[in-house]
Amino acid sequence: IKRIGVFTSGGDAPGMNAAIRAVVRTAIYNNLAVTGIYHGYQGMIEGSFIEMSRRSVSSIIQKGGTILKSARCLEFKTKEGRQAAYDNIKAQGIDALVAIGGDGTFTGANLFSQEFDIPVMCIPGTIDNDLYGTDYTLGYDTANNTVIEAIDKIRDTASSHSRVFFVEVMGRDSGCIALNAGVGGGAESILLPEVNSGIDTLIEELELAEARQKTSMIVIIAEGDKNGGAYNVAKIVKDKINHLDIKVSILGHLQRGGSPSSFDRVLATRMGYTAVNELIKGNSRATVGMRGTKMVITPLEEALNNKEFKLDDELLEIANIMNK
Ligand code: ATP
Repeated sequence: IKRIGVFTSGGDAPGMNAAIRAVVRTAIYNNLAVTGIYHGYQGMIEGSFIEMSRRSVSSIIQKGGTILKSARCLEFKTKEGRQAAYDNIKAQGIDALVAIGGDGTFTGANLFSQEFDIPVMCIPGTIDNDLYGTDYTLGYDTANNTVIEAIDKIRDTASSHSRVFFVEVMGRDSGCIALNAGVGGGAESILLPEVNSGIDTLIEELELAEARQKTSMIVIIAEGDKNGGAYNVAKIVKDKINHLDIKVSILGHLQRGGSPSSFDRVLATRMGYTAVNELIKGNSRATVGMRGTKMVITPLEEALNNKEFKLDDELLEIANIMNK
């Protein structure tokens, strides 16, 4: 291979820039050229490219978002769209790709690589930590830190006014952020999509906290929770314990932004480095990940066909004990 095309696609996540930087610098170190592709698959179709140099990725390791921008591109789901994308990248001399994104990005990369026989390596970038083949996705650690900071702030108000706060956090169908930030933020109760305990356990835990005369109570609700979202849960609880002063806070998109944590920067750098080295070795159609402290490679086929249960049983048990 002579020229790697790098792009970010799907939802942005802190650490994507650090990964771009690592891809560019590792490639250049190995005498490969790098083209940055703007707006993910959309940029391939529109021909939105930029020559990358060591300097073009200076001072981005600490930045949230993605300097290459991201987009969702429906056209890439069609054969004609992918053909246009291939013609454009071929004209640029791009003969290998590094895709940074989530599930949809991986699906597109796998298909594209099969159709046009172009090598591709993927890097898991999403705050949700919902991808197979890695213990941690890029951005997940930063999002946890952001949520914990928000919980701390909300707790100031909660304890000043003896209020109960229901805080809804992101994660799609995954309860990873909710569980980790819930434990780290000392939440009185945590509702997770993976553990469909219903409202009864929550009521029990709130009554326990009240009996102990706690001055503040924080309930973390994962966005994928099956009880209909924080507002709905608040309504049900209010009907059962009507003297509670319940406020709802949906943290929303602030969880996707911000400067990546030390963990995410190092992880991104290791992933970018590994992705390029795997391409050089002739590997393709695979995703980079980290298991324990080691970098691992998983074929895209396997990654896309598996869903991983990432909640740690012991951490679940610990969360319960902290609230009993
Ligand atoms: P996030 O998890 O943050 O949403 P994602 O990568 O899963 O990230 P998607 O919008 O699902 O985000 O996918 C990103 C892009 O990948 C899509 O806009 C589309 O261009 C491409 N893509 C997704 N699915 C397919 C598919 N089945 N075939 C071809 N391309 C696809």
